[in-house]
Amino acid sequence: AREDLFQAQKLEAIGQLTGGIAHDFNNLLMAVLGSLEILKKRLPDDPSLMPLLQNAIQGAERGAALTQRMLAFSRRQELHMAPIGVAGLIDGMMNFFERSLRSDLTIRTDIPDSLPPVLSDAVQLESALLNLVVNARDAMTTGGTVTITAIDVHFAQGDDKLQPGHYVKISVSDTGEGMDPETLARATTPFFTTKGVGKGTGLGLPMVQGLTEQSGGRLSIDSEEGKGTTVSLFLPVARLEDCPEEKKPASDLSAAR
Ligand code: ADP
Repeated sequence: AREDLFQAQKLEAIGQLTGGIAHDFNNLLMAVLGSLEILKKRLPDDPSLMPLLQNAIQGAERGAALTQRMLAFSRRQELHMAPIGVAGLIDGMMNFFERSLRSDLTIRTDIPDSLPPVLSDAVQLESALLNLVVNARDAMTTGGTVTITAIDVHFAQGDDKLQPGHYVKISVSDTGEGMDPETLARATTPFFTTKGVGKGTGLGLPMVQGLTEQSGGRLSIDSEEGKGTTVSLFLPVARLEDCPEEKKPASDLSAAR
């Protein structure tokens, strides 16, 4: 528990630092982008200059996207909790997922329609799942399959990480390279990445873990070198009193609890 507290304080400090830097960087980049856009409009008709300017704009845009991710990470505390239908949320993202993959990869889902809703932040959950799909893609260098599944599980007995209760387990699996034990041990540490400079931020899994834990759930990672990885989010099922009148699930949610 002492370790956990230390880890939480460290995360908090990193979050604040990241947020501050990201905020200032974002403002700077917006100023740079604004000036570049004006230049682009007024540039004399010299075709050799346009690609240079386009490069600069693209670079600034990528920097801005990165600072957005850092800001999202540091804003972990501002969650908008509401009941979420997992099947609908994932269905709505399939096009997006497909566009994020390469053509040598396939994606499939196995999610029953009858799942009870979970209580979490829908926007953050979408972002978390996209992070997992992108990680799965990056782990599969020569073809493979991403599989997204969801089932509901009852824990009669809790453990040190999870209260007893009713959860939906969402898993993203890949058939990629897997993680060696050191990588697995450090995977959720902020800024830990094996993807190299300019490619990985090391903020994906910490964000996913932060969201899961702030929703009252937990993250689990199973990985086997050379075989693949499964990352699972256990999210608590929304209770009836969490659901607004008009959105009460028709299922036997109350009987299940
Ligand atoms: P990033 O993707 O920017 O590196 P993450 O926090 O999402 O940051 O992941 C941290 C590290 O964990 C990755 O660099 C990679 O080494 C490892 N990792 C994450 N997901 C997978 C996966 N599906 N398969 C293999 N390794 C993974």
